[in-house]
Amino acid sequence: MATTTAQRTLMDSVFDGPTGYAGVEATPEWAQEVRRLARERNATILAHNYQLPEIQDVADHVGDSLALSRIAAEAEEGTIVFCGVHFMAETAKILSPAKTVLIPDQRAGCSLADSISADELRAWKAEHPGAMVVSYVNTTAEVKALTDICCTSSNAVDVVESIDPDREVLFLPDQFLGAHVKRETGRENMHIWAGECHVHAGINGDELTEQARTHPDAELFVHPECGCATSALYLAGEGAFPAERVHILSTGGMIDAAKASHSNQVLVATEIGMLHQLRKAAPGIDFQAVNDRASCKYMKMITPAALLRCLVEGADEVHVDLAMAEAGRASVQRMIAIGNSGGGE
Ligand code: SF4
Repeated sequence: MATTTAQRTLMDSVFDGPTGYAGVEATPEWAQEVRRLARERNATILAHNYQLPEIQDVADHVGDSLALSRIAAEAEEGTIVFCGVHFMAETAKILSPAKTVLIPDQRAGCSLADSISADELRAWKAEHPGAMVVSYVNTTAEVKALTDICCTSSNAVDVVESIDPDREVLFLPDQFLGAHVKRETGRENMHIWAGECHVHAGINGDELTEQARTHPDAELFVHPECGCATSALYLAGEGAFPAERVHILSTGGMIDAAKASHSNQVLVATEIGMLHQLRKAAPGIDFQAVNDRASCKYMKMITPAALLRCLVEGADEVHVDLAMAEAGRASVQRMIAIGNSGGGE
């Protein structure tokens, strides 16, 4: 691929810093170069809702991980640049094995996905022979390959209800989503892995109750797709916020609800990246984060410098072993077939 002067100048500034690739600002020149390089590579750029605003703005599509994986599978382009965390890019590769999937920084992991390894799951399965394994989508390809049915926060209850009531269920890795599903289904023979996402640590019951008291007219939007707000989902069910003001919504549902809302203020329980899309959709509403520290450091590793480097160098490429991809695909497809797995388009 020919290297232009603009590309060289921008690329010369990229360096690998303590929190990922840095050295490039999101200027109009950068955005133009990113778009040009994407065309040259026949690539489509997908950005998760929790990405930096400048990454969302330069992308072809913005959405949640499942919606983006579906877009990846249907895209005409042969290369997918997935601006999100590693398990999401892996899921896109599982659903589109013939495509080249790139992630701007493969070190962008996920504390929830990392809370269970394939070996730990094998050992857990051995303790409960015959149990059905239900995994939230925030898992590695290796764990998905050992899973019977994947689920999103939108269809987790339907997925568990679809399983023979006499069969044990192993639910992983998110303990808050697991507790929510157990409460909703009343299922006793369900075991829950004690995993969690570091981002939701600040969204606790006291904080939510306090927010309800100090913002008596505000509505609460909870988008638990990524694990960062599953604790809010659980707490809302416990009554920490008045039920009539709580809306548990997918990404698309959240944008529609924002456009239709007559409230002056909406509190948002999710990773703060989501605020960018909401403020664009309904500029008249004051959107406030329930916890403004709820920022995912892994998502924020996809910087302007990382995206530029990715498009220039064709790195980092995501590989999933073919047999593993096939097994993982089966668990993801079972998820898509049950209930509303849409989770947020
Ligand atoms: S917000 Fe939490 S669950 Fe989502 S990618 Fe970050 S660490 Fe993982």
